[in-house]
Amino acid sequence: MVGATNQTLRPFLWRAGKLYPDREIVSRTAEGLERYTYAEYEGRVARLAGALSDAGIGDGDRVATFCWNHNRHFETYFGVPSMGAQLHTINPLLPDHHIQYIVENAKDRIIFVDPSLAPKLAGAVDGDAFASVEQFVVMASEVPDDVGLSPVTDYESFIADHPDEYDWPDLPEDQPAGMCYTSGTTGQPKGVEYSQQMLWAHTMATLPESGLDIGAKDVIMPVVPMFHVNAWGLPFSTTAAGAKHVYPGPSPTPEDLATLIEEEGVTMTAGVPTVWLGLLDYLDEHDADISSLERIIIGGSAAPKSVIRRFDEEHDVDVLHAWGMTEMSPVGTVAHLKPGMEDLPAEAQYEKRAKQGLLAPGLEMRVVDDDGNEVPWDDEEFGELWVRGPWVTTEYFERPDANEEDYEDGWLKTGDVVTVDEDGYVQIVDRAKDVIKSGGEWISSLELENSIMAHDDVAEATVIGVPHERWQERPVAFIVPKGGVDEDALKADLVARVEDEFPKWWAPDEVVFIDEVPKTATGKFDKKVLRDRYDDSSLIEGKTPDSEAPSDE
Ligand code: ADP
Repeated sequence: MVGATNQTLRPFLWRAGKLYPDREIVSRTAEGLERYTYAEYEGRVARLAGALSDAGIGDGDRVATFCWNHNRHFETYFGVPSMGAQLHTINPLLPDHHIQYIVENAKDRIIFVDPSLAPKLAGAVDGDAFASVEQFVVMASEVPDDVGLSPVTDYESFIADHPDEYDWPDLPEDQPAGMCYTSGTTGQPKGVEYSQQMLWAHTMATLPESGLDIGAKDVIMPVVPMFHVNAWGLPFSTTAAGAKHVYPGPSPTPEDLATLIEEEGVTMTAGVPTVWLGLLDYLDEHDADISSLERIIIGGSAAPKSVIRRFDEEHDVDVLHAWGMTEMSPVGTVAHLKPGMEDLPAEAQYEKRAKQGLLAPGLEMRVVDDDGNEVPWDDEEFGELWVRGPWVTTEYFERPDANEEDYEDGWLKTGDVVTVDEDGYVQIVDRAKDVIKSGGEWISSLELENSIMAHDDVAEATVIGVPHERWQERPVAFIVPKGGVDEDALKADLVARVEDEFPKWWAPDEVVFIDEVPKTATGKFDKKVLRDRYDDSSLIEGKTPDSEAPSDE
């Protein structure tokens, strides 16, 4: 037997519009706050679907966004997949050559773009790679002068002449609904597709207490970008619950976040550790009332225990530490305390909550060593974490090479090396994949190495991520120069070269000259030796000004 209807997103939209018509969607924009209700939202989503249909978008076509977190972006979240198309959220912080690759690979037909991001997109537009793109739509009520994109219209004109109702189709569960590219260790970014059913299952798993604990009374502010795994699914789960949405717009400062929490009564928010370190520091210096805030979901990188402690002790806010991946829609584990653990001493509770946590209901996991055997849950032995479940992908979009590497017998091999304690709490102790994550964004060590090694004066080079308090990791390059080279000049040259080829924040914080890159028995670069040697931030202390963060500037 099967249920009467398929597991799709549309009923969430319908329910919010009908049962919570007056709950608000609030969005920070360059012109101030915009707000409307679910009733209006439902109508605007229908108008967007009508406009897409008129533009020739139909079943399975890909529609892309190049946007920060705001209400119009949220309209595409239901409008695009519910009319049968696939929403492809592009990360605007990627280097241009990655953006070109993914637009060409996904064959996007329309791209919705923020006014502030239009110059970045225009800079990446390249005839061949963008051959599938028929139209750009600027997320505003008018197109800025000299936008550099063509043909182009503004969002309000695009949806203007369409009715507030749409004859939504009954979609199959395996209909592709979402798409997001993830950076690989090697090669080009990998396309991850989400079906209607995967997004439904992820929503239903994250709503209850064992997930992220979301209810109609909540006011939810996703700071995690909407181009990162659907802002961890929050726009969907918030709607399913009938809760109020607050979107912080482009590049919010800690002051913007504190003001939104205070003025909109935010109860739950979510983002990478860097954001919350910034908010804590701001709150130390300023008198903001964040008493409405009950909990913060921290993920993307490990939540430092000190951050969990400071939010608890100084602001009475619970941190829910979560782990996930683009391939997992993304939530995998959440560090809830088990019954009885509230009686443990505070420090022991923080210890548990700083782990990546307990597997979400509906998922299965195994932790395997190099020989393929499962390791015991003893908090000591470690292995690679494998997961599977209804919202975990089983393949990449058109990438058999990557499938072979990352999937086995229906399991996703996460590349995260973990221990599991007797209570079942997962803790990440290392990363098998050779990438650097700075402020929640990936930097490819391999691409940096290729660029640096192409320099005539470099004999050998390797790049590793070194722990950093604010950005979690920052890149450091280790160089073996050719004989007789002026090291200072070479260093300046290399940094300039990287900044020219990649986003500025990819540039290594430090270039260290060494006599030889450590090698494994088989002659490969042994980064583990360097990582063990530099497992603190002494090498780069004070080297990363705020401006080197990933941003839209
Ligand atoms: P996300 O949007 O969560 O950053 P990605 O697919 O880009 O998704 O990155 C997933 C990887 O990020 C994980 O495999 C892991 O290495 C790292 N990661 C995610 N959450 C955490 C966490 N809470 N602690 C440590 N590492 C994490």
